[in-house]
Amino acid sequence: MKVSKLFSTTLTPVLFLLAEGNKNNLTQAAPLENTFQGKTFPGLERFQAFNLLTLANAKETKVPKYDISEVINSPRRIDRNKFHACYKVDLKEGKSVHIFQYVSGRTDSIFGISWDEKDKTKGLLFPEPAHNSKLVALVNAKKAGLNGVFEIYDSEGWYEAKYKFSPLLVVPEHTTVNSNFLINTESALRKLPEKYADNLFKQKVQVILGKNVEDSYYHYYPHMKEEDAQGGTWQNLNGRKNLNVPAIYDPIDKMVIIPQQYIEYKTNRIIDSSDLKEEILSMVFHELGHAFDASSEVTHSDTDRFEEIYEQDKKKLQGTIKSSSTYYNFRREAFAELTAALLGGLSKQKSETILSMFPRSAEYIREELLPQVGVNITIRDVRENIYPYYLKN
Ligand SMILES: [Zn+2]
Repeated sequence: MKVSKLFSTTLTPVLFLLAEGNKNNLTQAAPLENTFQGKTFPGLERFQAFNLLTLANAKETKVPKYDISEVINSPRRIDRNKFHACYKVDLKEGKSVHIFQYVSGRTDSIFGISWDEKDKTKGLLFPEPAHNSKLVALVNAKKAGLNGVFEIYDSEGWYEAKYKFSPLLVVPEHTTVNSNFLINTESALRKLPEKYADNLFKQKVQVILGKNVEDSYYHYYPHMKEEDAQGGTWQNLNGRKNLNVPAIYDPIDKMVIIPQQYIEYKTNRIIDSSDLKEEILSMVFHELGHAFDASSEVTHSDTDRFEEIYEQDKKKLQGTIKSSSTYYNFRREAFAELTAALLGGLSKQKSETILSMFPRSAEYIREELLPQVGVNITIRDVRENIYPYYLKN
């Protein structure tokens, strides 16, 4: 078993089970105290879990902090079929523990931790937990590609490594995703302005990931599966099927749904987004642009005011662009894309396209709407960070 190469000393029975056995059964046998995941629709539980961890953080001051000392991902040292990487954490006196990242899982199950049981018994690893939260250490997760910290808990002799994902992010119980997909989505969410993300959270918006179209679109909307079986209903988009769509926003249940894998239009190739950081970033920002659009009593893009401004932009564009453009034909799409661009979630190319097409609409969102949720972006900010010729043409 390749994973044992990781550890110079005796493996704990825990690690052995995690590495060899069915980790899902194991998780059930020892349920996490502050589990993030609820039922199919996690709803309230997610909010409670978030508060619990926030509380734990408030008391973190006395807890020792560590950095990751080594990232191990060579297939010669770890079983890459099970683990994406292993993060070595050096403690005092030559002792260490390892946090490992599974290839796939959910927010509460993609990380594990292993330790030497003999060292633990002798008290050579982490100090005894000082309070009820059982938090014994914090590990900076930067080298694992994450902005926050791993929280190490000692739960009756059993260490657990948890990472507090964005409370917007949900991987429902019926599915698992590639852990890189999860981490890249998390990173994208952390790039949202804090107040913007807070507002979406208060509105109970969720970003729901699934392994594939079956576990995401078809799971929530069985009619989509029927439509696809009948050849798709998106005739206005050249016969695209639901399974060709990389991400959707459902304004009724306030869910952004992103399958890790979808089917490329025309080629029928499976596209796996796990390692496509830029695509994930723009998908997350665009879909949440729809969520922001729908976050007021009247959908922003449906107001007379926005419609008027948008039509002015369109009039100016006449003849200069293909009238089949999605943004040209759908106000809501233009709105979502403009918001994503202003917040810095799109590529240079995409930002330039949308901001130059709809400058008046962009200004309305920047000046009037984003400040309503505490997000203030200046024209200079846009020019310096996103599109240098903003409003200059
Ligand atoms: Zn859209």
